[in-house]
Amino acid sequence: MTKNNKHFETSVIHDGYDANDMLGSLSSPLFQTSTFTFETAEQGERRFAGEEDGYIYSRLGNPTVSVLEEKMAALENGERGLAFSSGMAAVSAILIALTKANDHIVCSSGLYGCTFGLLSMMKEKYHITHDFSEMRTKEEVRDCIKPETACIYVETPINPTMKLIDLQMVADVAHEYNIPVVVDNTFSSPYLQRPLDLGCDVVLHSATKYIGGHGDVIAGVAVGKKDFLDEVAMTTQKDIGGVMAPFDAWLLIRGLKTLPIRLDRHCDNAENIFERLRQHPKVARVFYPGDEASPAYAICQKQMKRGGGLLSFEINGTKKEAQQLLNSLNFVKIAVSLGDAETLIQHPATMTHSVVPEDVRADMGISDSLIRLSVGLEAWQDVWADLEQALDQLT
Ligand SMILES: *Cc1c(COP(=O)(O)O)cnc(C)c1O
Repeated sequence: MTKNNKHFETSVIHDGYDANDMLGSLSSPLFQTSTFTFETAEQGERRFAGEEDGYIYSRLGNPTVSVLEEKMAALENGERGLAFSSGMAAVSAILIALTKANDHIVCSSGLYGCTFGLLSMMKEKYHITHDFSEMRTKEEVRDCIKPETACIYVETPINPTMKLIDLQMVADVAHEYNIPVVVDNTFSSPYLQRPLDLGCDVVLHSATKYIGGHGDVIAGVAVGKKDFLDEVAMTTQKDIGGVMAPFDAWLLIRGLKTLPIRLDRHCDNAENIFERLRQHPKVARVFYPGDEASPAYAICQKQMKRGGGLLSFEINGTKKEAQQLLNSLNFVKIAVSLGDAETLIQHPATMTHSVVPEDVRADMGISDSLIRLSVGLEAWQDVWADLEQALDQLT
């Protein structure tokens, strides 16, 4: 159930939009406008003073973008949603809003490559330092917290190693110290995992991935407490300017309607590919949150509805064999990104995580033989046939 007491499948379609407000238009209209006119000078004055509701300029708010923000707030069970021009615009606006010079951030031991890049830049420019934690126990989290720790930043499942972190446990520790927990929920979408329900404070997404689901838009969203996101909207979003375009919001509203249907299929397909990959002689190890034999499966059961559409695996070989495997595929596409209808495969060490120094990459568990697969919506039998013929060719 979502906060409006509907099933998730109903909320994705109906929440955040009332056709009666829009001349009965069944589909949410696209307000492709940069600015909004005022009837009088006094009305303009009242809008700027915040004394009257209404739109002013699309960097400060747009009706199509508002529909998406309300939908996402309902789906994540949060007070307010805020849309951004990209996942990284969301990550940077939230992290810059939560920190000041000389602060400290505790983060999960694996991070999206550009988030790692952002943290490195914040350290160099503003001396905002960070420590990585495996976060396997409360003690491990506590050990990293310093007086200047401003937030805890978590990805789970971790990209691309699929390690899981117990979000409720992390939130419990953070709140002992009054520190907010930010979760990048891109890999799961609110259909599979809802961090705010587990006590976390801010959840964010690269909406480019499962939220959009069709590989045709770059976008980001954050959901959390109204006070905090109001502040972000009026500071790091408004003044840095990473706002979502109305057409992108329109595409995401359309994509969201099928999120639960798509995710169920992604999960079904990933489970089938997982079972076969781990029996293949050329595959050394497979990492999947839905792996019942993994010690982390208890965390999956606790906080995820299903294992998701992503998995990664190590082949018996080196970078050369990993690249050979990718080059031998027939229709599975070599591409970064994930959550699309098309099955996508990539080599983290030389692609998404190439900005991460080699020693840090090794600590994160990203070897040269690790391959990440975003299982698409095709018939899994065809996806497996393509992977199998490419694996069989490995020397
Ligand atoms: C893609 C991605 C991002 C960045 O999102 P963009 O929309 O590409 O800016 C952040 N976190 C995760 C986990 C991602 O997969």
